[in-house]
Amino acid sequence: MVSKFYLWVTIFSNMLSVVVPLYNEEENVVQLHQRLTSASDTWGEDYELIFVNDGSYDNTIELLKDCHRKDNKVKVVDLSRNFGHQAAISAGIKCAKGDAVVVMDGDLQDPPEELSRFLDKWREGYHVVYAIRTKRKENIFKRISYKLFYRILAFLGDIDIPLDSGDFCVMDKRVINVLNNEMIEVQRFIRGLRAYAGFRQIGVKSERASRAAGEVKYTFKKLLKLAIDGILDFSSFPLRISTYLGFLIAIPSFIFGVVILIQKFTGSTFLGGAASETPGLTFLTIGVLFLFGLIMIMLGIMGEYVGRIYMEVKRRPTYIINEIYDH
Ligand code: UDP
Ligand code: MG
Repeated sequence: MVSKFYLWVTIFSNMLSVVVPLYNEEENVVQLHQRLTSASDTWGEDYELIFVNDGSYDNTIELLKDCHRKDNKVKVVDLSRNFGHQAAISAGIKCAKGDAVVVMDGDLQDPPEELSRFLDKWREGYHVVYAIRTKRKENIFKRISYKLFYRILAFLGDIDIPLDSGDFCVMDKRVINVLNNEMIEVQRFIRGLRAYAGFRQIGVKSERASRAAGEVKYTFKKLLKLAIDGILDFSSFPLRISTYLGFLIAIPSFIFGVVILIQKFTGSTFLGGAASETPGLTFLTIGVLFLFGLIMIMLGIMGEYVGRIYMEVKRRPTYIINEIYDH
């Protein structure tokens, strides 16, 4: 009787995959596994934990392998080197078998205990339930940068990526299928792709805790890269700036040209002297330098896009798997 009931439950209950990318998180692995396991009682679903080791050079992989040995719910995806947070998430969700997939950080800034609220929304029929970060317990510089970034992205972006939403979310299998099979880009900005996928999406307010232990793994350089990726991957507005600036400069230039021509023919001394006396050397120098600067900036922006096209055309894998520890 009991086994029949168990069979019924396992056939009809859903399966949840929790994907966690980890880079040098040895101080957090054990606590993370414990917190996830005890919170799992509130999820109301069968689950698997997918820990992605993103090329850590500390003891993270050994601790993860240990979790895998002790707990048959744990699956470890070991990448061949450090590919970055977004790539590690991509690797994890590619291996996920669940009807819903949770993405969360490995430093316990996204509390596993909050997940049950997210899952309720998913069961209500939402395909993406993402966290809206309310209180950030990070330094003021980082908080301001994040706020600014999301607002610039919202202003420039061609799609609406929700303000202050992070990667912490639950995604339905349908969205995961789109991410895995239909969005084949190599450089991946998961929050953007997730928003692009559409379906029914909802934000849930969630306080961002402070890091359980260890140092932050996102260096300033990595964070800046993420921000630039986010903007350039979802907006062609920066390219359009050159067109707008072109018009902005060309129209007054044309008028100015006409004025100078008139001056030349009439010999008037409007704006400093007759054209024949080469007036306004300062003006000329500033004008040339300004335009040269603008051209360099626009070339830089074009270069960013060309570089991206180059990366995409090469089709190098987003991540390379060294080994998968599964049961
Ligand atoms: N992470 C990763 N690869 C990296 C950098 C970070 O997998 O190259 C992981 C890290 O271990 C953590 C998550 O991404 O689980 C978020 O990183 P972190 O806490 O350093 O950044 P935050 O989002 O808090 O600024
Ligand atoms: Mg963190």
